[in-house]
Amino acid sequence: MGELTMRQCNLCPRGCGVDRSARTGVCGCSDTMHVARAALHMWEEPCLSGERGSGAVFFAGCPLHCIFCQNAAISGGDAGRAYTPKELAAEMLRLQGEGAANINLVTAGQWATAVHETLAVAKQKGFTLPVVWNSSGYETEETLTLLRDDIDIYLPDLKYVSADLAMKYSHAKDYPEVAKRAITRMVEAAGEPAFDADGYMTRGVIVRVLVLPGHRDEACEVIRYLYETYGDRIYISILNQYTPPAKELPYPELNRRLTRYEYDRVVDFARGLPVENGFIQVGKTASESFIPAFDV
Ligand code: SF4
Repeated sequence: MGELTMRQCNLCPRGCGVDRSARTGVCGCSDTMHVARAALHMWEEPCLSGERGSGAVFFAGCPLHCIFCQNAAISGGDAGRAYTPKELAAEMLRLQGEGAANINLVTAGQWATAVHETLAVAKQKGFTLPVVWNSSGYETEETLTLLRDDIDIYLPDLKYVSADLAMKYSHAKDYPEVAKRAITRMVEAAGEPAFDADGYMTRGVIVRVLVLPGHRDEACEVIRYLYETYGDRIYISILNQYTPPAKELPYPELNRRLTRYEYDRVVDFARGLPVENGFIQVGKTASESFIPAFDV
């Protein structure tokens, strides 16, 4: 494995090659780790949040920059405040003390080397929770290898299997191939899904499929790919929570919410495959809970 570095940055598939101490690349991030929020979060899948809550750490910046970004307030660059690995390790220990079921690293790939250091410091100081890697799926194999012993649960998206759509909405024609490869590495690293006596996931992979308005066929193709490739070695989480960005987009289909009809047809498709390990969302927004759908 070549050295992962922010000096000629190669931490993600964009491979910008910039020196982040002097300028930023596609992710918009300097070389100083920034976190927008670290708090208990109740709205992940029930095996992650449960009643205890997931200790979510929302990192600033994002290498992918989808045109419909659902987290635009923090994805642009160095949002929030700067943390050293020691300071962030202390936040993780605080969340552990507050009863978090896990630590949930949200969009952290652009800080992978600092996150690796943070987790080492936290473990030296008594951190024991499962660690969730919550990502767009746009990751290099080198980054995943670095983090292999740090991560217990992978929570990637698979946004598209169509390279044209990935180019159109995320400016990343290589997204489908990169994300498929990344998910395969994640499944190898995590092994079979495992849960504790209270139903919290302790190891495994949950792949999220955000159904985009006007693109239910694409969502079905994503689910078909996941089911045919991994069967019940992963869980598939089908999301209905798409929210149009505040600023109108040049693609009219993305300026509206998903309809109930569109979402239900995708869920019907998944049931028909038949997907057995899955989650669907009830209600119209992300604030509604997830329910296990296919295995009950
Ligand atoms: S982490 Fe940021 S600067 Fe580094 S390669 Fe990716 S997008 Fe470019």
